[in-house]
Amino acid sequence: MPIWNEKFETMSRAELEQEQLERLQQTLGRVYRRVSYYHDLFNKLGFDPLEVTSREDLRKIPFTTKETLRIAYPYDMFAVPLREVVRMQSTYGTTGQPLIVGYTHNDIDHWSELTARVLAAGGVTKDDIIQISFPYGLFTGGLGFHYGAELIGASVIPCSDIAIENQITIMRDYRATVLCCAPTFAAMLLEILDEKSVTPAELALSKALFGAESWNESFRTEIEEQLDLSVTDNYGLTEVMGPGVSYECEEKKGLHVSEDYFIPEIIDPDSGEILPEGEKGELVLTTITKEGYPLIRYRTGDITSLITEPCSCGRSFIRMTRVFGRIDDMIILNGQNMFPTQFEQILTDVVGKTPNYQLVVDRKENIDQLEIQIEVSQDIFDDEVKTLNRIERDVVREVKEKLDFIPRVTLVEPRSIVRRMKQSRVIDLRKPE
Ligand SMILES: [Zn+2]
Repeated sequence: MPIWNEKFETMSRAELEQEQLERLQQTLGRVYRRVSYYHDLFNKLGFDPLEVTSREDLRKIPFTTKETLRIAYPYDMFAVPLREVVRMQSTYGTTGQPLIVGYTHNDIDHWSELTARVLAAGGVTKDDIIQISFPYGLFTGGLGFHYGAELIGASVIPCSDIAIENQITIMRDYRATVLCCAPTFAAMLLEILDEKSVTPAELALSKALFGAESWNESFRTEIEEQLDLSVTDNYGLTEVMGPGVSYECEEKKGLHVSEDYFIPEIIDPDSGEILPEGEKGELVLTTITKEGYPLIRYRTGDITSLITEPCSCGRSFIRMTRVFGRIDDMIILNGQNMFPTQFEQILTDVVGKTPNYQLVVDRKENIDQLEIQIEVSQDIFDDEVKTLNRIERDVVREVKEKLDFIPRVTLVEPRSIVRRMKQSRVIDLRKPE
């Protein structure tokens, strides 16, 4: 697979760290001068951005949280006047008030460079026809990839606000070779292709790039086998840019973080301590090129770990493991922390592929209860009661063994659980404490 920007993506660690330091110094100076939140914070700490001599100096600055950004809504975290802002995007607001993020001309150029790296690492070239099924609009997925794909010179089909059945027609008739979408969309696509009896041979797809949601390795295998293509993962979030923060290469063993744009750290979400290399914790990102909406040590809420071991693709950027879950999605059952991805892995192992599912949490007589609702295919559903009982029994046993909790399992017919992008898998009916 071609490397989009050899100079930066394969830079020696020493050169990269020097570049990071210079960009960090500029960013800290900019936020001190232009964002009142950081100005006041640095003054209170006695922190002088001019005295920063190493990346480690960053650790003297407290984390920026989503709450800080909410208080600053709409424009108080912007580091440029609005006349220099050429685009605004917004977070989804799934966990509270949405945030507005502003981009300057340079920010948009950088963002295009970043998503071009993602696409190139997934094998996209100017000869490709790329169907972008991420939503366009305030959500960053659509426009983020659109600009990167145009920079590469691929032919872009901006396809998001069309019903999936019609997207399949476009995919087939336009001979799309690349699909850029959320894993949920790919799961729906598989179902509808099957219903419409469209075979992968009728499509020209050879690559897919998934992002915006957590997914697992079994789902990759399933999509790769059923659609006969190669799938790579990528990661980003609106607050720090949008898609383009990190991306898989052909090795598919972790996502390279574009470290010339972002400095990653991993912390213990409870204590805020920096964790030793390789340990799983919350990802914290500092933007080091952004002009419109720079963020220092932003707590992403995403759980991952960092891999410093060099990758055989030649890129020198550090890798992060696939996002394990979001702190917001963490379920606490009788005092134990669990993530939907842990249940998803168990369901995948028992059912044989990743089913659509939902976790419903409730509390009765002070004891937490969990119901796992699982969609099973029509043939399983129509099968003997024996098969259904086996699935229920196996899920209960595995959850008990691996997560030390006894759930109730309900199997439901296909399409009974609504699929939505970024949909939380958890419905919590417990009253707030
Ligand atoms: Zn690599």
